[in-house]
Amino acid sequence: MGLKSFFHPGLFRRITLSYLFVGILSVLVMATLAINAILQNGLRELEHSLEDYAFTLSNLLEDSMVNYSAEQPLDEQIAVSVDRYLSSRPDVTYTIIGPQGEIILTTEDASLVDQFILQSVEYQQALNGGEGESFGRSDRGEQYFFVAVPIYTHGQTNSVLRLSIPVKSNMTQAYSTVWLILIGAGLLLVGVVLIGWVSAKTLAAPISSLTEVAERFSRGELDARAEPEGPLEFVRLAHAFNQMAERLQNNMDNLRGFVMNASHELRTPLTAIRLNLDALQQGALDEPEVAARFLMKTQEEIDRLNRMVTDLLDLSRIEFNRDNILFVALDLNQIAKEARQFWSARSQQAGLELRLILSEHSPMVRANEDQINRVINNLMDNAIKNTPEGGWVEIAVLYHPGLNTARLEVRDSGRGISPEHLDHVFERFYRVEKTTPRYGKTMGSGLGLAIARTIMEAHEGSIGAVSQLGQGSIFWIELPAVVMKSSH
Ligand code: ADP
Repeated sequence: MGLKSFFHPGLFRRITLSYLFVGILSVLVMATLAINAILQNGLRELEHSLEDYAFTLSNLLEDSMVNYSAEQPLDEQIAVSVDRYLSSRPDVTYTIIGPQGEIILTTEDASLVDQFILQSVEYQQALNGGEGESFGRSDRGEQYFFVAVPIYTHGQTNSVLRLSIPVKSNMTQAYSTVWLILIGAGLLLVGVVLIGWVSAKTLAAPISSLTEVAERFSRGELDARAEPEGPLEFVRLAHAFNQMAERLQNNMDNLRGFVMNASHELRTPLTAIRLNLDALQQGALDEPEVAARFLMKTQEEIDRLNRMVTDLLDLSRIEFNRDNILFVALDLNQIAKEARQFWSARSQQAGLELRLILSEHSPMVRANEDQINRVINNLMDNAIKNTPEGGWVEIAVLYHPGLNTARLEVRDSGRGISPEHLDHVFERFYRVEKTTPRYGKTMGSGLGLAIARTIMEAHEGSIGAVSQLGQGSIFWIELPAVVMKSSH
């Protein structure tokens, strides 16, 4: 264990140690209190029972001691009756001490106890007329409890009765309870530590695995995902992480694809320009007609390159600023009218009829005017480009009061799009016609509908198309409607 990890222990060690600390502390306090109470109680019971014996015996002895004097030894019968009285307690020893401090009767070794008894606290207290008690040890180190009470004869304290009982053998019950408590406390402590260990594991494990996944992700393993495990909060964290990772990975994939597509698309006109210039260098310049054709083709490629770069810049600008777009309430009928006006000359030139269908309830939408015009212009441009002479193009505004979106459709009677292409027309650089169309039409950048889709997403609107090959197409956009307050 390093010094650093000692001073900054991990979550796992922290939790386990806290449980251990709290466990030891509470078990220690509880066990101490319980053991203390049990021992005290045991001793108190021992005291009471010995006192009971002492008082009963001293009452019993009072009459027999009346006639006692040093000269007249005690009746043998007394020893017999005391022994009988104490027969149920063979561990209780007794000593009767006479008025002169002489041992009258004892079940202990008189020569040994002699001095010891006369100096004892309990004897002195009993001599003074009270009840004395004390703890002491035998010469074998065993602990004893002593009680001494006076024996009154003629209302005077003449003699003293002293009882003793070994503590240990009388406390076995209490001691075994204490052992039980100690074992219980030990088990409790093990349990607490085990719970601490388990909860530390359930908390620390998902964090460690999530950290590991995040580290792998930051090293570039973009497909690293977290396992949703452990407590609810960690499951949610793992899900949130996975969502973030998913989005980042998608964005990275998109970006990579975009850069690859963009460089490929830009390279095509550049190669064409290069080839044209090579041809001019290798002699085409000498023939003015051929040279003019090569120059015109070069010019077209440069225009295409220019369109592509402009569209690319626009696309990234719109994507980049999608959170800062200024939205206002716009009348969709009005927008459609302006579009018709804007495109009428071009339609005429292309030999197309341009129609307009307005909604009877002027729908107000939340939009950015420039960007919406750009979308509509792109749809109009595509419709006109893809509809042969003699056909028609239609702008229609559709709205029902109470709906939360309003719709604008650009319909044409043009060549239509087959289903396999229709699925892809909103992708960047996707073109139905892979080569430059012949007669006069220039090839688009393939970005127009991608830009339109990005704008509609930024508007929280939507865009789509239905089409039938050879019949025509309908491109539609939907925008959030603004509910206008009634003026009445
Ligand atoms: P571009 O800028 O090259 O026109 P778009 O993204 O606008 O690219 O369009 C993608 C493809 O969808 C183009 O190849 C185009 O031919 C086709 N397309 C778009 N609108 C129509 C339409 N109204 N009818 C037929 N084809 C269409």
